[in-house]
Amino acid sequence: MRAPPVAPATDDPVVAQLDELRREAESCEKCALAGTRTRVVFGEGDPHSDLMIVGEAPGYHEDQQGRPFVGQAGKLLDQLLATIGLTREQVYIANVLKSRPPNNRDPKPEEIEACQPYLLRQVELIAPRVVVTLGNFATKLLSGSQTGITRVHGIAQRTSIGGRDLHLFPVFHPAAALYTPAMLDTLKQDFLRLPEVLGLPLDGRDAGHAAPPADAAPPADITPPSADQSPSADATPPGDTTPPTGPAPSPPLTGGPAEQLGLF
Ligand code: SF4
Repeated sequence: MRAPPVAPATDDPVVAQLDELRREAESCEKCALAGTRTRVVFGEGDPHSDLMIVGEAPGYHEDQQGRPFVGQAGKLLDQLLATIGLTREQVYIANVLKSRPPNNRDPKPEEIEACQPYLLRQVELIAPRVVVTLGNFATKLLSGSQTGITRVHGIAQRTSIGGRDLHLFPVFHPAAALYTPAMLDTLKQDFLRLPEVLGLPLDGRDAGHAAPPADAAPPADITPPSADQSPSADATPPGDTTPPTGPAPSPPLTGGPAEQLGLF
C-alpha cells in the first residue's frame, strides 16, 4: 500500500505548526461530527496575513473538497474581498467547526466547545491584526458576548484571542446575505470599511500594512452557478428560496435573486 503524501519540510515555523495542527484536526474525533463528515475542513490562505476570516461550519461542497467557502457564499466572499483589492489567497479563511454538521444544521454548543481549541490556536499562530467574523456563531464565540450580529456588525472591537491583541470585525454571514438584498447591501458596506479597520493601531505592533488600496477595481461578474449545484451550508438559503421582491439595493449592487451571483 502506498504511503500517504508527506508535506514538504518548511523553515517557516508558523506553516510547520499549522501543518501539525491540521494533521491533528484531520484525525480528530472529539465530537460526533467525526462520524458523519467526509473531510475535515481545516482552513486555508496566507498564514501571515493581517486578515483572518472566520465562518460557521463546512457545508456540502466544503465537506467534499476539504476547503472552506467553495460554494455560492464562497463566491460572494471572493467578490467582497475583491471590492477591497484582496483575493482569498491573501487572507486566511477558517470556520468555527472543522467538520460539517449533517444537513447543514446549526452547530451544537458541545461541538463548538470541542472544536474551538483549533480555531483559537489558528488565531494564535497566524496572529492577524483583524479577524472578520461571519454571522452569529463566529461572532459570539470570538467576542465572548451573546449580543447578536444584527447589533454588532460593522463595529470593530478591540480584543485579545490566544494571547494576540487584535480587532474583531463582525459582519453578516454571506450565506444569509445571498437571499436578503438589504443584508447584502449592509455586508458590502461593512466590507468597504475593512481597509480602515486594518489600519487601526494595536499595542506593540506597527500600523497596519495590509490595508488594500481604497480604489480597488470591482471584480468582473461571476458566471451563475449551474442549476444542479447542491446546496452548501456556507450557502444554505432560508427555507423560502423565492427570490426577494423588495426594493433593489443601492448601486453598485444589483442585488436581486441570489442565484444571479453577479452581485457587483
Ligand atoms: S468538528 Fe472539530 S471537534 Fe468535532 S470532530 Fe470535527 S475537528 Fe473534531
